[in-house]
Amino acid sequence: PTHKPRTGGARIIAIANQKGGVGKTTTTINLAAGLAELGQRVLIVDLDPQGNASTGLGIDQDRRDITTYDLLTGDATPVQATQMTEFENLFIVPATTDLSSADIELISNEKRSFLLRDALRQLSMDSLELDYILIDCPPSLNILTVNAFIAAHSIIVPLQSEFFALEGLSQLMLTIREVRETANKGLRIEGIVLTMYDRRNNLSIQVENDARENLGELVFKTVIPRNVRLSEAPSFAMPVLTYDPASKGSQAYRSLAAEVMSVELNQAKRTG
Ligand code: ADP
Ligand code: MG
Repeated sequence: PTHKPRTGGARIIAIANQKGGVGKTTTTINLAAGLAELGQRVLIVDLDPQGNASTGLGIDQDRRDITTYDLLTGDATPVQATQMTEFENLFIVPATTDLSSADIELISNEKRSFLLRDALRQLSMDSLELDYILIDCPPSLNILTVNAFIAAHSIIVPLQSEFFALEGLSQLMLTIREVRETANKGLRIEGIVLTMYDRRNNLSIQVENDARENLGELVFKTVIPRNVRLSEAPSFAMPVLTYDPASKGSQAYRSLAAEVMSVELNQAKRTG
């Protein structure tokens, strides 16, 4: 009742990296929880056929009658596809494995890259009064990820603090540039977030130095530490902020949420 919805609709952020296991889903769930804690109404769109974000937020298979797949095909409106979670201010459109066939099935559709954008632009979205929509992308640069890039205002790239971390980044940047030049001029990189960081490990420090040197301002100040509570939380179907609010993982994602909100405020000041 005290919630004042933002003007101009929700800010849509894709969480993407074509590598698996780098912390996309963990970042989606816990950044969302961090923003929710700050009073923001947040929708997670699970765009990975593995459905890890859905499972991690306690949406059992038998509650996945209407999914992201139905949203893409137009068989469901966003309002129909959006479910409440047990967590305040946190909503989800869940995914099932049928999303993996979307790639093939959508090929005949001329607008196949624009399906998510068009779905999320429906006027009925307004009734959800969302502040943020976070899209949890699959670990590839396929048609699903391209849909996310075309639907989004910006992209957050989780980068695992390990040896080959920066390697796949040029291909990702190329895809982002292509989308920007063709279908979504305003697409920005919200930021790159270092995940699974271990301060006692020289390699982590080296990856951080490399990233800050090469990517500068694009790298979030917040670094997500390797924290066992973060990996335990999904099996209890909770964000870490609920599972263990005082953990290092919770503190880090709270800090990331604050940073995402402040970056946006600064941009708003600069542009208008
Ligand atoms: P992705 O979605 O990119 O495939 P996940 O978020 O699923 O990656 O993370 C891969 C695995 O690593 C999961 O088991 C997750 O629980 C674990 N994990 C992610 N981030 C951390 C972290 N900061 N500390 C410890 N474990 C983590
Ligand atoms: Mg994932």
